[in-house]
Amino acid sequence: MAKYIFVTGGVTSSLGKGIISASLAKLLQSRGYRVTIQKFDPYINIDPGTLNPYEHGECYVTEDGAETDLDLGHYERFLNTPTSQANNVTTGRIYQHVINKERAGDYLGKTVQVVPHITDEIKRRMQLLGQTGNYDIVITELGGTVGDIESTPFIEAVRQLRWELGNSDSLVIHLTLVPYLAAAGELKTKPTQHSVKMLLEYGIQPDILVCRTEHRLNQDIRKKLALFCNVKINAVIESADATSIYDVPLLMLKEQLDKTVLAKLKLPTKNEPDLEKWKAFLGKVKNPTSEIKIGLVGKYVELPDAYKSINEAFIHAGAEHECKVRVKSIAAESINEENVAEKLQGLHGVLVAPGFGERGLNGKLAAIKYVRENQIPFMGICLGMQCAVIEFGRNVLQLEDANSYEMDKNSKNPVINLMEDQKNITNMGGTMRLGAYPCEIKKGTKAAAIYSKTRISERHRHRYEFNNAYLEQYEKAGMIASGINPDNQLVEIIELKNHPFFVAGQFHPELKSTVANPHPLFVNFVAASMARATKKQ
Ligand code: GLN
Repeated sequence: MAKYIFVTGGVTSSLGKGIISASLAKLLQSRGYRVTIQKFDPYINIDPGTLNPYEHGECYVTEDGAETDLDLGHYERFLNTPTSQANNVTTGRIYQHVINKERAGDYLGKTVQVVPHITDEIKRRMQLLGQTGNYDIVITELGGTVGDIESTPFIEAVRQLRWELGNSDSLVIHLTLVPYLAAAGELKTKPTQHSVKMLLEYGIQPDILVCRTEHRLNQDIRKKLALFCNVKINAVIESADATSIYDVPLLMLKEQLDKTVLAKLKLPTKNEPDLEKWKAFLGKVKNPTSEIKIGLVGKYVELPDAYKSINEAFIHAGAEHECKVRVKSIAAESINEENVAEKLQGLHGVLVAPGFGERGLNGKLAAIKYVRENQIPFMGICLGMQCAVIEFGRNVLQLEDANSYEMDKNSKNPVINLMEDQKNITNMGGTMRLGAYPCEIKKGTKAAAIYSKTRISERHRHRYEFNNAYLEQYEKAGMIASGINPDNQLVEIIELKNHPFFVAGQFHPELKSTVANPHPLFVNFVAASMARATKKQ
């Protein structure tokens, strides 16, 4: 039977519950335990697929096509194991299930209530992955902050489960903030005391406190927290601000979070964690021997979380080459034909990001034209690939109004078109082409050299596609389809023949890049950009 760890948050949001959960999971995994992490989000959306990135950052897509919270990206990047729809559940999904059952008459005339019907459904879902037999430990991260109205049913479900599972099969880790008051020159424990009190009001005594802090927790502070929050002193864990999220597993190891957890769950600690590869990766991240600058051209550049997986994929790929990749965000809207040279000055490579809608389209096209003509390494992801196709259509094939059907329904040259099976769809949620699809790589192409295999699988999230009616024309002019979906002939990868690196995919390679497996497209794009950097010196 799996053991359960629940991670709650107190005092404020943005304390890094996802990173703490992923770091603990990494430590347990490197001791030989089979671990998974799931996230329960209190919002009413069925999934984050319909959310604007400004709301919750990037939408992370799993192999099975679930549109999920970006924390699942951290789980995969740290653990190098795929997650699925079962790893992310929202209030909306819980209620939808319960209401459907009510309509079907499954409650046999009973009044349907938050307790027990909603809480039962939460508990059922919390135990689904644990019951597969695939995991020794399931970590459940609760979104939101204790005390939020909307997270109450989740907290209540945890209270009930703690009671049902018992002390050695479950535990609660509470992540809190220990702020530093500069005027008093002191760390303050009161917010933590209050948030633990609030948890106690809900009937939950946390077993372990993880305290986010900008200053070291000395012994006195630890004692005070232990005394007021009813935990042992070794269960007060310091989580100091780290320069890299990839430091956090090592910081948690130093604080012995994994040992404390295993002792409480009555699991053996015999194997010391094997973190050699992790440390080697961190060593390369921290001691780069070269540096490049990549431009990230997109629509949501003010918010780093909007392109979380892309930024992380650059860290993984950079480490592979011991190269520091500086990612410079550039608002697509700010670029035009006149200022493009100045905007992209000093960049060794340009990535045009995924996205939706017309805003910034012309800036993206201007950037792509510039890098295409000036032999600057280019990578396009999803909308980024579609833009490369539009740009080539307009400027090389002279199809003046070449466009995507998404941007212009009346274009005579819809080089990016709406897929046939998307035409009658009216609901926006969960209806895009989502999840993993196969792709066949053409021999002798750059893509073939990058992947060094002929059959790959990548994750998708889009409605529009390369219009195959134009394929012959494109290939004749030098833009070739080097990756094709073998089942329906949809174009998955395009590349330019006479260019050092001009490769774009209809899929999202960033979603599959992990610390253990940096994505080959990013690794090769970084290499091409490094080559450009050396050539320029
Ligand atoms: N908006 C485009 C489409 O739906 C691209 C989507 C994306 O970049 N994820 O096809």
